[in-house]
Amino acid sequence: MNYYSTNHKAPTATLEEAVIKGLAPDRGLYMPEEIKLLPASFFNHIDTLSFQEIAFEVATCFFGNDIEAADLKNIVCDTLSFDIPIVNIENNIYSLELFHGPTLAFKDVGARFMARLLRHFIRKESRGQVNVLVATSGDTGSAVANGFLGVDGIHVYVLYPKGKVSPIQESQFTTLGRNITALEVDGVFDDCQALVKQAFMDEELNRQMRLTSANSINVARFLPQAFYYFYAYAQLKRQGRAGNVVVCVPSGNFGNLCAGLFAHRMGLPVKRFIAANNANDVFYQYLKTGTYTPQSSKQTLANAMDVGAPSNFARIAALFNGNHGAIKAVIGGATYSDAMIRESMKGCYTATGYILDPHGACGYRALKEQLQPGETGIFLETAHPAKFKETVDDALHINLPIPDRLVAFMQNEKQSVPMRNDFHVFKQFLLSR
Ligand SMILES: *Cc1c(COP(=O)(O)O)cnc(C)c1O
Repeated sequence: MNYYSTNHKAPTATLEEAVIKGLAPDRGLYMPEEIKLLPASFFNHIDTLSFQEIAFEVATCFFGNDIEAADLKNIVCDTLSFDIPIVNIENNIYSLELFHGPTLAFKDVGARFMARLLRHFIRKESRGQVNVLVATSGDTGSAVANGFLGVDGIHVYVLYPKGKVSPIQESQFTTLGRNITALEVDGVFDDCQALVKQAFMDEELNRQMRLTSANSINVARFLPQAFYYFYAYAQLKRQGRAGNVVVCVPSGNFGNLCAGLFAHRMGLPVKRFIAANNANDVFYQYLKTGTYTPQSSKQTLANAMDVGAPSNFARIAALFNGNHGAIKAVIGGATYSDAMIRESMKGCYTATGYILDPHGACGYRALKEQLQPGETGIFLETAHPAKFKETVDDALHINLPIPDRLVAFMQNEKQSVPMRNDFHVFKQFLLSR
């Protein structure tokens, strides 16, 4: 299958080209030329299939013509080495717990898949080293770094905003060493993302090094996120709760929601989606006004959603041919201040005993406010609450234990390179490696 650019000013790309390039040469985002509809029979017996079986069916729709079935099956099974259960929180509200992977956040799924896909292509061609550049507002860096750690032929550079990620998040990508280099940028997340985007546009740099992006703009990262929307539905069906499903997605760069919309296009019976935002409410404002106005990002408690210019807006617009009414018919919005996030965490804990992280708290609250009688709501619990321990402890007046997997990261020594928010300095650094 080929991939076109959302800006329509670049040639179409093969899967391999789209994965290695990340961003299209015209700065657009790659989109698959076709979204296959899965047959009704698949949905009729989806509740009898395992997560890996479901994911393989979905993966085949996108990658089946480009990767042999046996290889694709290995990539899928190796990626999904952990479960993604739904947990009933109260009455008609479920949490889809996406935090059971190695770095305890949903980005493990896309990052692990992309690392394995890239390794597949590199092995096939036996070409030189590939350099992965990734900007992170928190969880992307850890998921990508851990997904690629020790993979031969790949070096990962993680750019993150100095002082704007939690100490636990930081430890997950600054302590690894080996083929992972962490760059601590004097700026905000959008600056990190801009440096990465500019690197891909720089001809000299691209002549000297093979660069690829592992941000959520990469098709190899965002498409696999569709897997768990199908699996969530399968689990609801097993419980006889699969009618009138509403899925609420805490959103920042909108890769996760976008994957859900793809699942919907493939026939997944979801009635509607809700995009839950923190104070960075560009998408919410778009839903209200029909005008998309990027802003600079604001720092909040749900810091992985502190994005003022969400890249994947271009993909959502492309999916709906830019039709505001069509987008509004499928996606609702919500926006919450830090005070409201804290209040939701507290309210949920007091009423149900369930501990939310600040991102999931936005999703939970939007369902509480917007779910109609007869609907079943799932919110994506995008990270383990212990990744935001300070916020959780403070909001709930508890002392949340840190899982062993996280403690292990924090015991290792931080190794990061300070980096000015200046493209020429960044470029010279890369060239000198
Ligand atoms: C990345 C992230 C989000 C936002 O996901 P997008 O795909 O960028 O919209 C939400 N919550 C957590 C914990 C994240 O790490």
